[in-house]
Amino acid sequence: MSHQHILSEVFGYAEFRGPQQAIVEHMVRGHDALVLMPTGGGKSLCYQIPAIARQRAGQGVTIVVSPLIALMHDQVGALHEAGVAAAFLNSTLSSDEAYQVEQRMLRGDITMLYAAPERLTTPRFLALLDSLFANGKLSMFAIDEAHCVSQWGHDFRPEYRALTVLHERFAGVPRMALTATADALTRDDILERLQLENARAFVSSFDRPNIRYTIVEKRDSTQQLLRFIEREHEGDAGIVYCQSRRKVEDMAQTLVDAGINALPYHAGLDNKIRQKHQDRFLREEGIVMVATIAFGMGIDKPDVRFVAHIDMPKNIEGYYQETGRGGRDGLPADAWMGYGLQDVVNQRRMIDESPASEEFKQVMRGKLDALLGLAEATDCRRVRLLSYFGEQSEPCGNCDNCLHPPAIWDGTDAARKLLSTIYRIQQMSAMSFGAGHIMDIVRGKTTDKTTQYGHGALSTFGVGAEFSELQLRGVLRQLIAMSAVRVDSQAFNTLQLTEQSRAVLRGEVQVQLRESAAESGRKPKRSARLGTVVKAPIALDSDALLRYSALKAWRAEVAREHNLPAYVIFHDATLAAIAQRAPRSLDDLQGISGIGTKKLEAYAHEVLRVVSLT
Ligand code: ADP
Ligand code: ZN
Repeated sequence: MSHQHILSEVFGYAEFRGPQQAIVEHMVRGHDALVLMPTGGGKSLCYQIPAIARQRAGQGVTIVVSPLIALMHDQVGALHEAGVAAAFLNSTLSSDEAYQVEQRMLRGDITMLYAAPERLTTPRFLALLDSLFANGKLSMFAIDEAHCVSQWGHDFRPEYRALTVLHERFAGVPRMALTATADALTRDDILERLQLENARAFVSSFDRPNIRYTIVEKRDSTQQLLRFIEREHEGDAGIVYCQSRRKVEDMAQTLVDAGINALPYHAGLDNKIRQKHQDRFLREEGIVMVATIAFGMGIDKPDVRFVAHIDMPKNIEGYYQETGRGGRDGLPADAWMGYGLQDVVNQRRMIDESPASEEFKQVMRGKLDALLGLAEATDCRRVRLLSYFGEQSEPCGNCDNCLHPPAIWDGTDAARKLLSTIYRIQQMSAMSFGAGHIMDIVRGKTTDKTTQYGHGALSTFGVGAEFSELQLRGVLRQLIAMSAVRVDSQAFNTLQLTEQSRAVLRGEVQVQLRESAAESGRKPKRSARLGTVVKAPIALDSDALLRYSALKAWRAEVAREHNLPAYVIFHDATLAAIAQRAPRSLDDLQGISGIGTKKLEAYAHEVLRVVSLT
């Protein structure tokens, strides 16, 4: 049976996406692979279809290694809905339930088994695999979220290191590692740690064209976020990432007070509450999850319409992975980030103060600098993002800089004035000061501190009176981003000159800055408030919209009965396509994307009934 056939029969999709087909064929033939695909790119089918094909060919069970215990129930439930025999083994099962799963697996009744790495490497589980292996019924290993094996990835899990045992103990069983983290360092680490040096690498384009990137300068970040949600995403599901647990709590409360359906999520919350909030986010519509980065890995909710970062993330890999959680259904989604000088200072401090080796810190600083470069960019964000992942592209027309090219001003003169002030103070007293004081001197503002240290007498006092504080702040951020100024977090965040300062002082390097939105006076667009009107993913006439609402209500009921998220039953896009077609017979339902054979059997009758009633 062809793989194309499994794609349409089981999953109801007409075509493979990007390299999916090549990957599937490679795995069915029994080779090893490394799959790099952006979040939302469609990694799951890359192992699910080979698993089904190989099982049908009598090759036995595929083991899916995943760190995501809290999501295994839903992942397996989604496969059941599609008619695939899947199961999971993890700590949420009783020993009796686990025993049942093991027996089914030994009998050959399971196509895909999901397990966490710590479970996989227990003597008991390995013995189980031994007996399957001896009978030629161990088909394949799919190692999901493979970047967890690398300390350069952003989710290092030591348990992943033990997975080398698979290759040694089950020689010849094909293995594939899948990840959305693509930087060269992590990738090489995965190949080495999992001994996949001879595996074929499939690297997809990392572009997510339906995501619109916007990065704004923080002023009142809470208000900025509220305005963004109210204007662009009323009633939508979204994720708001914050740096600290405390901030998560505060922000969630603020959103709730503003009438937004928000929930907090962070590692400090009780396990039960965390699980409950995650379930509600997945099962209900229009919830905004306010979270630390502890939330989100493996979340495959397709209709997340925005991902906001209220604090700057650590690096581009993290940013890209988090923003990638928006718009998996391919419909428009927003990635919105606010950032400011304080973020830069905080992130530097966290790196400097971490107990890691100097080599590690150096790598982390480089990664932070790349993110700063992205935030300060005046050209296409997507071109920058993709080039970070080694991809060339053209300006996208779907980021803030493309849509509203920022006014640019030449900050070279201001930069030199700031740097020479830092230099002169050093000369005068061998002392260093923080950003606020340096800016005061350049702007010629007399304060207690300028008086105390006699800085009013410096030759640079007041040389930059024409600049606003906002402008100078922007210049400083840019200087930090280009490493022409270093923030010394061990010494009260004082500013220090670096090797690179000299080139700026000599005027050899230009400092280009984006004009602050406040100063350029650009007015954000105001969209109509949508209230309780149903939003459909495609344009529907009023009759179709009624059908769509009715179908959604029906789906919610089914999802509740099955204890699964609604999108596992049908995606919004599938319901909208049904509503548009107004089917009267089984034939009319053929060919709608997302309806496989099993779902057609299970739900066609009900779907036709709901449609006929509206
Ligand atoms: P990833 O794991 O790479 O983040 P998923 O495997 O969750 O991405 O896939 C993202 C979404 O794209 C899912 O909703 C999935 O059903 C859908 N998808 C994947 N492959 C296809 C395809 N060939 N045709 C249509 N939809 C697809
Ligand atoms: Zn762009």
